[in-house]
Amino acid sequence: MPVPISQAWTVASYVLKQKIKGRKQYPLVLMLEPLYRCNLACAGCGKIQYPAHVLKQELLPEECFKAVDECGTPMVSIPGGEPLMHSQIDKIVEGLVARKKYIYLCTNALLLKEKLHLFKPSKYLTFSVHLDGQKEHHDFSVCREGGYELAVEGVKAALQRGFRVTTNTTLFDGADPKSVRAFFDEMMELGVEGMMLSPGYSYDKAPDQKHFLGRARTRRLFRAILANRKPTWQFNQSMLFLEFLMGKRDFKCTPWGMPTYSIFGWQKPCYLLQDGYTDSFAELMSTTEWDNYGTESGNAKCANCMVHSGYEASGVDYTFSSLKGLWAAAKATLFTRNQDDEALLMLNEPVAPVHSYNPLVQIDAKSSKLEETRA
Ligand code: SF4
Repeated sequence: MPVPISQAWTVASYVLKQKIKGRKQYPLVLMLEPLYRCNLACAGCGKIQYPAHVLKQELLPEECFKAVDECGTPMVSIPGGEPLMHSQIDKIVEGLVARKKYIYLCTNALLLKEKLHLFKPSKYLTFSVHLDGQKEHHDFSVCREGGYELAVEGVKAALQRGFRVTTNTTLFDGADPKSVRAFFDEMMELGVEGMMLSPGYSYDKAPDQKHFLGRARTRRLFRAILANRKPTWQFNQSMLFLEFLMGKRDFKCTPWGMPTYSIFGWQKPCYLLQDGYTDSFAELMSTTEWDNYGTESGNAKCANCMVHSGYEASGVDYTFSSLKGLWAAAKATLFTRNQDDEALLMLNEPVAPVHSYNPLVQIDAKSSKLEETRA
């Protein structure tokens, strides 16, 4: 079982309540970004491109709790920046656990081993470790040699102390499906509870603009990776979202499903775009022109997007919208093999190693220091 029953039940009953209330647009997971500072400088990420005075800022625990209470989601994802660099991350987690929120603390795990003592194992707390593939690919993706080993050490330490641990993997153009499948084996052998996947999104601020995936290539890549699935692989996300990535079904974006709150306020319209901010969640919902977003809207910024923050909530909503949806989700959960001979052939297609057209950017020793930097 990739997600504990208590969590699945909490999420299912929350979504059903929204349906009974007739809410068409409801949040499912709050993306809480308590800081933008990070101890990595990944080529595909635009967050750390902010000026120094922004990178120094942090949300206070009280500001985080207010946002969580305002939007009322059963799950809170804490990305960033690197949340373990937040000076009061332990207080934030403690307050959210007290509110019985299921937390995914998204970390590159470089600091995980040394910060574990700040946290207590709980069914509400999961460390979602950012690992983009096998050693060579991950180190390249996060622009840091040795990043994979450090992250794996962090995962092992967290598992030994009884914490819930998942991985989250962002795939860009040039990903080798065979290697990604071997990475899944490695992660399951390591003992993580489940894995999460998403294609990357083209951030305006990201330094590497060449290697984001278009929709057709996304579907092809994920079909090669996720068809003919091994029974040992566990995924900690909506199975219908995985089918969407493989091109087996289509969803419309539901950007309100994973609203983002950061030091700037509530971000319009989604985790990826920044078309303004509001002071309250209610204002975000009422003043955002939602029809201007999603692939069907014709908005060029949304044209190639298939990321989890736009479409995973769509899969969950579809599940609870009809008996057909429930049946589709049950089938996708029970029958995971997805036999596909064509997809098997795709695994033998040559892949240009990412390094052949883009040299590894090595962060200098000063900027990759692992010590915490306080606001
Ligand atoms: S399609 Fe992607 S970029 Fe556009 S609103 Fe949805 S999540 Fe945001």
